[in-house]
Amino acid sequence: MREIQHYIDGRPTAGRSGRFGPVYNPTTGEQQAKVALASVEDVAAAVASARKAFPDWASQTPLARARVMFKFKALVEDNLDSLSALLSSEHGKVKSDAAGSIQRGLEVVEFSCGIPHLLKGEFSDSVARGIDLYSMRQPLGVVAGITPFNFPAMIPMWMFAVAVACGNTFIIKPSEKDPSVPVRLAELFRQAGGPEGVLNVVQGDKAAVDALIAHPDIQAISFVGSTPIAAQVYAAAAATGKRVQAMGGAKNHMIVLPDADMGQAVDALMGAAYGSAGERCMAVSVAVAVGRTGDELVERLKPRVDALKVGPSLDPASEMGPLVTREHLEKVKGYVGIGQQEGARLVHDGRDFRLQGYENGFFMGGCVFDDVRPGMRIYKEEIFGPVLSIVRATDFEAALRLPSEHDYGNGVAIFTRDGDAARDFAQRVNVGMVGINVPIPVPLGFHSFGGWKRSAFGDTNQYGMEGVRFYTHVKTVTARWPTGIRAGADFNIPTGR
Ligand code: NAD
Repeated sequence: MREIQHYIDGRPTAGRSGRFGPVYNPTTGEQQAKVALASVEDVAAAVASARKAFPDWASQTPLARARVMFKFKALVEDNLDSLSALLSSEHGKVKSDAAGSIQRGLEVVEFSCGIPHLLKGEFSDSVARGIDLYSMRQPLGVVAGITPFNFPAMIPMWMFAVAVACGNTFIIKPSEKDPSVPVRLAELFRQAGGPEGVLNVVQGDKAAVDALIAHPDIQAISFVGSTPIAAQVYAAAAATGKRVQAMGGAKNHMIVLPDADMGQAVDALMGAAYGSAGERCMAVSVAVAVGRTGDELVERLKPRVDALKVGPSLDPASEMGPLVTREHLEKVKGYVGIGQQEGARLVHDGRDFRLQGYENGFFMGGCVFDDVRPGMRIYKEEIFGPVLSIVRATDFEAALRLPSEHDYGNGVAIFTRDGDAARDFAQRVNVGMVGINVPIPVPLGFHSFGGWKRSAFGDTNQYGMEGVRFYTHVKTVTARWPTGIRAGADFNIPTGR
């Protein structure tokens, strides 16, 4: 059985714990590899390597670090095909979608290539007579990122590209479900000229996460995953005095107003609800049909969901691949049963989908519920699968209240031709990322990504200047150069006069 190892100090490293987790091929349902699960000692070895590498990496010029990022970007592009295939074979998302997700990570690498500009501090001339005041941004030291299974390339890049460009050294703790791609990224970073120990990968589960949180040499933790774990990691890491940001789950609504282009709205819903089998934190899982749109939406959606091409993740004809594990597949199907018991109307049931030749794969077809109401579990909880709930709302105000009052607040979209309604919605909705006729509003690398409410804990977003702020601290220097004038000791607090 192929063994997926840690990547520490610039080389693949066997684990010391003797513990392993299974890595499946979701298309066939077979275990294709085993991944090392780190012990406290494995984590300590990675932290020691990152700590050793820090002083030299931090003292390199921002331009020198940017040049490594430029080379890394080119190498990821050169290897895009093999990285996408590897990602797809462990995650189950179709290869073209895997490539797209790597591209969205690369956009943050591109952003980090501009780090000399982004690290510029502020300067105030003559804050007092003969005194200048300036600030600079300095790296924190060793920092760690804990990432979810659904974006094994993009989310690590969101984190480490900014962190290492700022001069930190980094430890990725990927999901144990699809751990290979982060190791390839670390190898490519090394090939790009990144010194050993600057980017390490520690494979593992809760034990690895707990060891990272407890380690006194780690200065900051960035986490992305489900809300219960995000809340735990946020509290535990903050209690040790670490800087922490923790992004959680989601229940993203797409509002369809009666004046929307229904063809566009249905296309958007198909991609956003069933792309990556709904395993995206920005997937649309609730369609809010306003006024008379409900019946038309259901009528148009049913045949489209029926025609959805579910197939092997590496088959270019597939629109939707399998789910990540059998356990997750059963959980998602379980939610469909719960929705029926709660009285929602299941207008398309994909639970019995079977793919000839891949009977053990983790496949299901798309599901659509109509008449979903806010009190139901299928409305309140994140399902993270190809299950779309349609909620009917009488008018704009009722539709606006739904995402605004939901516990999660990651993304939301509105489909309309009415600019006034769209603007009003964007201003008032209580959600972090808003799309206007855009179903999955993931901001570009020079903005930042982050939800509100129970979708994110902490006060900085991922990447963009928010990322630069998260991975640096500000030092301010107040400087006076002797002029020969001796004023004598001053026993009053200095002021700006
Ligand atoms: P998860 O919470 O199960 O795992 C995330 C990470 O935490 C993994 O590295 C995992 O090994 C680790 N982990 C799991 N259990 C742990 C525990 N008890 N203690 C400490 N660490 C633990 O999430 P997942 O299933 O891998 O990913 C899907 C979730 O991530 C969904 O809820 C999705 O919405 C969310 N997500 C959020 C965003 C965002 O930016 N808000 C982005 C992508 C995914």
